Amino acid sequence: MTSAPFATPVTAAELDWQADTPVALAYDDPYFSRDDGTAESRHVFVDGNALGRRFAALPAGATFVIAETGFGTGLNLLCAMACFLAEAPADSTLHFISVEKHPLRPADLRRAHSHWPQFAALAEELAQVYPPLAPGLHRRWLCQGRVALTLVFADVQDALPHLHARVDAWFLDGFAPARNPDMWQPTLFNAMARLSAPGASFATFTAAGFVRRGLTAAGFQVDRVPGFGRKREMLVGRTAGDWQAAVRPTGQAAVIGAGLAGATCARALAERGWQVTVFDPQGIAQGASGNLAGVVYTTPSPHATAQNRFYQSSYLNALHWLQRHGFPGCRDDGALSGVRQYPPDPRQQARQHGALDSGLWPEDQLQPCTDHDGLLLPGGGYIRPPHWCAHLLDHPRIRLVQQRVTHLAPRDERWQLTLDEGPAQAADIAVIANAAAARELCQLDWLPLKLIRGQVSYCRATDASHDWSQAICHSGYLTPALDGLHCVGATFDLRRHDLQPDASDNDRNLAELAAQLPEQWAQLGGPDIEVVGERVGLRCQSIDFLPLAGEVPDARALPHRPLPGLYMSIAHGSRGITGTPLCAELIAALVNDEPLPVDTELLGALAPARFILRQRKKQPEWTP
Ligand code: SAM
Repeated sequence: MTSAPFATPVTAAELDWQADTPVALAYDDPYFSRDDGTAESRHVFVDGNALGRRFAALPAGATFVIAETGFGTGLNLLCAMACFLAEAPADSTLHFISVEKHPLRPADLRRAHSHWPQFAALAEELAQVYPPLAPGLHRRWLCQGRVALTLVFADVQDALPHLHARVDAWFLDGFAPARNPDMWQPTLFNAMARLSAPGASFATFTAAGFVRRGLTAAGFQVDRVPGFGRKREMLVGRTAGDWQAAVRPTGQAAVIGAGLAGATCARALAERGWQVTVFDPQGIAQGASGNLAGVVYTTPSPHATAQNRFYQSSYLNALHWLQRHGFPGCRDDGALSGVRQYPPDPRQQARQHGALDSGLWPEDQLQPCTDHDGLLLPGGGYIRPPHWCAHLLDHPRIRLVQQRVTHLAPRDERWQLTLDEGPAQAADIAVIANAAAARELCQLDWLPLKLIRGQVSYCRATDASHDWSQAICHSGYLTPALDGLHCVGATFDLRRHDLQPDASDNDRNLAELAAQLPEQWAQLGGPDIEVVGERVGLRCQSIDFLPLAGEVPDARALPHRPLPGLYMSIAHGSRGITGTPLCAELIAALVNDEPLPVDTELLGALAPARFILRQRKKQPEWTP
């Protein structure tokens, strides 16, 4: 199954630089006014939406959402960000969503920015986080968390129907309607109307009659006002209703579990102003997240199924989380030095070649290995997961309580948590992030989870091995040394669920290493490899291999509805490092009613409710 909207490879913009102005060859149109692009952007989009006045009047804790058609050089973002930082209260957040069919290559982006010294710092930050040219949504945080950019690489016609947001102001950009008629269609105007908050505004540089009529037909009130420079007129307008700024809810959040899922959710909520208490009887990252080293990687595929799209999108998002949190900050915590993937069998080999040829993976993120059959993920690496969790939990609004939550129940519109010792605790929202133990908390026995026992062997580094810098994945994995030890693993056992280490599992790991990576096996000592320890974890996985992330449904209600204030992030299998940041971003966005970092198809594919709906086949599709 392919998912239509984000299954098309991204083609970069081909530019003709005419003096300082980039001109798109495909449209024969400049990205902004040749006279003064910055002044045009301010006049048309910033002033056309009265942003200065609206930003200045935002209440504390407000979230303002701008959506744009055509990101181009990001000039409109830079102008809007500068205005927001100057005018809006310090604890408000700007979400900027921009859909772009032909993104600029990073070098072109920097070249365009070099002409605006007034934006040098913001432009540098943008260039640092500019996403790879892969289809779909890319959430990037800027300005110490004041601005969230969601760049969507797709055609607006395809993308907008799949976005989930409540937009306060539209930047209707895109090349001149005469040169780009495909974009300026009723489907675009109707999608804008669907995503608009009551009283949402729009502004566009054009005054074309069919654009005015299309927007009017979609329900916008449209006015002609003076355009920029030589353009006599442009259009501005709004949807019906009184516009009101959305204010983030805040309160107390309980997160159950201090592994990768819990730590990422706690961090995402704390950054949005929630006071977070994380409960875990064993402390930080003692379950499946507790291995000495874990690999930051994904398994690229040629097929844009929801599952593969989640794998790609969550991997790229995890790289952004690591980058913005400065992790790993020292060699002791790992390194993003690239990951190699060697195919363990012909099927995997074909899949890897297919991924390389699919166009879904840009070259800066996926390359063939030059000295071995296999793939190189240059952005990936290996990290020490318990240190990553501790790093995320180190936030003034997060507190760790080393206690077991034995029961979770709604009470007076809050969630009451029964602990195995001491008085019960209450929170406004709760996030279940304790893997399969979730089932014991509150009638969640319908969750179709599997436990997969995995034992990893810790092998002493040798003179030949201690300088290895890249993790290698095959049917198992091998990491560079941390604390003088390499992780060799891991076993995959569906039938055993005990945590007792097993000498024969170390033998299995070493036999697999010898078979798949004979050179590394020999450098580690061959038959004399010294196993100095091992660790057993139970990976929790769902039956469709995707995590369960989002609102927790009331399984007994018909028609189905979510339990207010209850969320979960579980079943990350052996991909927790990669999958948990995007799931945390999603849950925090649901909690705060922000634009979602995933499209509606992925939202449904991750929603825990999908399993209830599958059981009740006649129920309609899950919609948020
Ligand atoms: N806002 C941009 C800036 O600040 O630099 C300038 C935008 S430029 C005039 C128009 C942009 O719209 C181009 O980047 C172009 O690739 C994009 N575009 C054109 N048609 C599109 C479509 N159907 N879907 C998404 N983007 C489109």
